[in-house]
Amino acid sequence: ITVLNASKTYGNEDELKVEALKPDSFSVEKGEFVCIIGTSGSGKSTLLHLLAGVDEATTGQIIINGKDITKLNQESLAIFRRREVGIIYQFFNLVPVLTARENIELPLMLDEKKVNRAYFNEIVELLAIKNRLDFYPSKLSGGEQQRVAIARALAMDPEVMLFDEPTSALDPEMVGEVLKTMQDLADSGMTMVIVTHEMGFAREVSDEVWFMADGYLQEQGSPEQIFENPQSPRAKDFLSKVL
Ligand code: ADP
Ligand code: MG
Repeated sequence: ITVLNASKTYGNEDELKVEALKPDSFSVEKGEFVCIIGTSGSGKSTLLHLLAGVDEATTGQIIINGKDITKLNQESLAIFRRREVGIIYQFFNLVPVLTARENIELPLMLDEKKVNRAYFNEIVELLAIKNRLDFYPSKLSGGEQQRVAIARALAMDPEVMLFDEPTSALDPEMVGEVLKTMQDLADSGMTMVIVTHEMGFAREVSDEVWFMADGYLQEQGSPEQIFENPQSPRAKDFLSKVL
């Protein structure tokens, strides 16, 4: 992932204008595990939506797997979204009129691909949703809906996984399991960008931690740089921006 001077402004009337993401440049290597930490409203979800190609950058370039997605036409962008990135939204965005199974299989259906039963079963087993597959989202708990959203994001075995606040909806006993899965996926070469509030998690699993505030990426560094010495001026500065 390479981002060059990308920004996002919502609204156009002066009084309604929100600069959700101010122009910024950064990159993430293949298989790298990045955790983004920041206060509410700092632009974290906006950034993930731009990387997923579900929201359009106001300025700049976003290059993923060698493609500048800001230059793709509607059709190519739809194919990019389906095949190359998996996104798990903060509020899941499941299709209410489809069952859990249909939600998970939707990207494959749209791509006219056959469902790989073995892979499908592996995912739903891992996420403990096997006995929920015929339920509609409204009949599922928040944690179950999120796990269906994870399965949907994994269905196409994407290169890049974007995950907005994984621990917000999960039951405590599922958190470890799900995060371990994300770690395994990153180890197998999937690029992982996760928005989280959990410092402990960020410290444990990530290669890099980014701090966002006011629509800017304020700082980035390895968890060691940031957490090993929380009293250091740099760490204190990081933490004072986000806590
Ligand atoms: P975070 O995920 O860090 O809490 P968001 O990226 O959701 O922050 O939001 C960043 C800012 O952009 C907020 O001020 C929010 O109100 C605004 N914003 C987000 N989405 C929209 C939208 N669709 N229209 C207008 N403003 C938006
Ligand atoms: Mg958010």
